[in-house]
Amino acid sequence: MSETADVVIIGGGIIGSSIAYHLAEAGCSNVIVVERGAAQGLGSTGQATGGVRAQFSTSINIQMSLYSIEFFSRFEEATGRKSGYQPNGYLFLATNEGHLDYLKRTRETQRAAGLETVEIVSREDIAAMIPQLHIDDILGGSYCPTDGLIEPLSVMRGFMERASSRGVRLWLSTEVNAIEVEGGEVKGVSTTRGHISTRAVVNASGAWAAEVARLAGVEIPVVPLRRQLVAARLPIDLPARLPMVIDMTDGFHFRRAPLDWTEPGVLLAWPDPMETFGFKMDFDEAFIGKVLTRAAHRMPLLAQAIVDPKRCRTGLYEMTPDHHAIIGLAPNVRGLYLANGFSGHGVMHSPATGRIISDLILHGETRLLDIKPLGADRFIEGRLLEETSIL
Ligand SMILES: Cc1cc2nc3c(=O)[nH]c(=O)nc-3n(C[C@H](O)[C@H](O)[C@H](O)COP(=O)(O)OP(=O)(O)OC[C@H]3O[C@@H](n4cnc5c(N)ncnc54)[C@H](O)[C@@H]3O)c2cc1C
Repeated sequence: MSETADVVIIGGGIIGSSIAYHLAEAGCSNVIVVERGAAQGLGSTGQATGGVRAQFSTSINIQMSLYSIEFFSRFEEATGRKSGYQPNGYLFLATNEGHLDYLKRTRETQRAAGLETVEIVSREDIAAMIPQLHIDDILGGSYCPTDGLIEPLSVMRGFMERASSRGVRLWLSTEVNAIEVEGGEVKGVSTTRGHISTRAVVNASGAWAAEVARLAGVEIPVVPLRRQLVAARLPIDLPARLPMVIDMTDGFHFRRAPLDWTEPGVLLAWPDPMETFGFKMDFDEAFIGKVLTRAAHRMPLLAQAIVDPKRCRTGLYEMTPDHHAIIGLAPNVRGLYLANGFSGHGVMHSPATGRIISDLILHGETRLLDIKPLGADRFIEGRLLEETSIL
């Protein structure tokens, strides 16, 4: 079988779906999304916590979030599905002067980038906001009320359903195993379902992005890093508008249970500094104790949490050396577009990414943002960014 498409997108997670949506909305629907899973969402998208925030430390990440959060707030109008956006805020807690100074400094960067609503809050403000927290060791924090939560799978489906209704094709259970490049230009892809001739290929393959780029002879520094979430039920409920709470002491953070749970609960997360890179997908039982100790310290009520093993989960972050995405044309291969390396922020940055890649394919440029800082050539030229606000 041989097909022809204007654009082939490799990967049907939230990023590939957003790109397909934005292309179709702009009138380009001869697009094939190739996904090797038997269903969408079996990669990182289906494991994500669902947090969205603009409280970053670099202008480019803040601007990616500002566009995306506004998009989530009108997602149903745009796609017909709910994004589940709950503007409950993100609350960062500082337990030492260094972290508090950092929050004050990043607030200036955030304001300069157009995020006006971040406030530095005192220990007393925090106690009033969430009386259940242990606050003796907290010096202060920062809070942004437009940060919050969304439902990643609903967003992914909303994007793809709307794209499909405009003619985009989704090939499930199909793997791309070669990208044809002739004279420095993309000519097509080979898949387990046949050949597709195309002049534009998008790498939207999440944690597998380095392998997929290599099919076209392109090297990108994206490596997988395991992240685990502990799900637990609670005997009493937490406030409905509980923010995402981040303890800067060690990165422990938690959110209230997703909307589809019928009983009170929490999702608990901690970026284990001993974790090593690799395609590790097993859930490490020893992780539970480490997280629960931190949880009980920050909110004594969480000592009563009853772990729900069926809902505990493991997924992969797609890390780059400077913790920023790689977005734009691949160096040296015309027609290959990269939407990779989100370093754990791909769900929240999916709307902006879809718009940018669609603009680049259809118009050769984007006016949404200056995306030069995210180009893959930064690793060759030594122009690395540094995002220090990683969870
Ligand atoms: C535990 C955890 C919590 C997270 N929490 C958040 C959060 O709160 N907020 C946030 O913004 N982000 C979060 N993330 C990160 C987020 O999940 C990812 O950045 C995002 O899902 C990336 O989307 P994607 O579409 O690029 O990748 P994926 O969803 O992984 O999709 C890539 C797809 O490509 C397919 N594929 C790969 N190779 C091929 C091939 N050769 N042929 C065909 N198909 C292929 C895969 O099957 C996969 O479905 C979290 C991640 C984890 C693991």
